[in-house]
Amino acid sequence: MVKVLDKGFIDVVDVMGSDLSVVNAARVSFGKRKDEMTAGDAKLIRYLWTHMHTSPFRHASIQFHLKAPIFVLRQWMKHQVGCAWNEISGRYVVFEPDFYIPDNWREQHESNKQGSKGSVADQAQATELYEATLKQQFDAYNALLAQGVCKEQARMVLPVATYSECYWTCSLQAIMHFLSLRLDAHSQWEIRQYAAAVFALVKERFAISLEQMQLPEDIELPEL
Ligand SMILES: Cc1cc2nc3c(=O)[nH]c(=O)nc-3n(C[C@H](O)[C@H](O)[C@H](O)COP(=O)(O)OP(=O)(O)OC[C@H]3O[C@@H](n4cnc5c(N)ncnc54)[C@H](O)[C@@H]3O)c2cc1C
Repeated sequence: MVKVLDKGFIDVVDVMGSDLSVVNAARVSFGKRKDEMTAGDAKLIRYLWTHMHTSPFRHASIQFHLKAPIFVLRQWMKHQVGCAWNEISGRYVVFEPDFYIPDNWREQHESNKQGSKGSVADQAQATELYEATLKQQFDAYNALLAQGVCKEQARMVLPVATYSECYWTCSLQAIMHFLSLRLDAHSQWEIRQYAAAVFALVKERFAISLEQMQLPEDIELPEL
């Protein structure tokens, strides 16, 4: 399991396949099957990915269990093709005050309209306002439940900083597509941390396939 952000995590539950599954799916074209990877197979994987011959990468898949803030999951769940999602339900479960508290409040980026950079000067002031708002929202949630309002409506006052839990199962191709977009510096810092954790978790099993991904210089992989 890899810890991500202040209270999140991601863990591999199950894995089907390896780099060899990709190779064998491609080599079936010639009626061939191998039991061990060779240098030629590594070259084949590079060729397949570079030339968008992607179907062999769909024969391996991984199931993850993860905990992330809802605003991160909104971005993550846009990745739909080759992915299955199941999430904890606020209609069944009463939420705990489990919110993402950033270590660093970043400034608005001037040229990248959806991006951020650096740090604002008064970190403590931002945290104070943020935590006071979270408390107010969570108090309102509890007050609504105490009045007898159902869970499925009371949750409407909770912020997108609330942590949620999911199972995410996807093909190796879908993971590589996710990594190519979400490791990139144009993606939000918080989802990039999850992408780095995904990379760290799958890189041993799919070492050659993952070599096709560019790891940006400013991304640090978490230790396993
Ligand atoms: C930096 C960044 C900023 C973003 N900003 C926004 C934003 O402001 N608002 C927003 O709504 N989203 C935004 N997104 C999400 C983005 O538009 C994609 O939905 C998300 O990255 C998932 O990628 P995808 O659609 O390729 O993935 P998937 O849905 O998993 O699709 C995978 C691939 O399948 C193919 N495919 C999928 N659907 C179809 C189809 N209908 N027809 C043909 N081929 C298809 C495409 O080749 C696609 O790349 C942003 C993403 C990034 C990385």
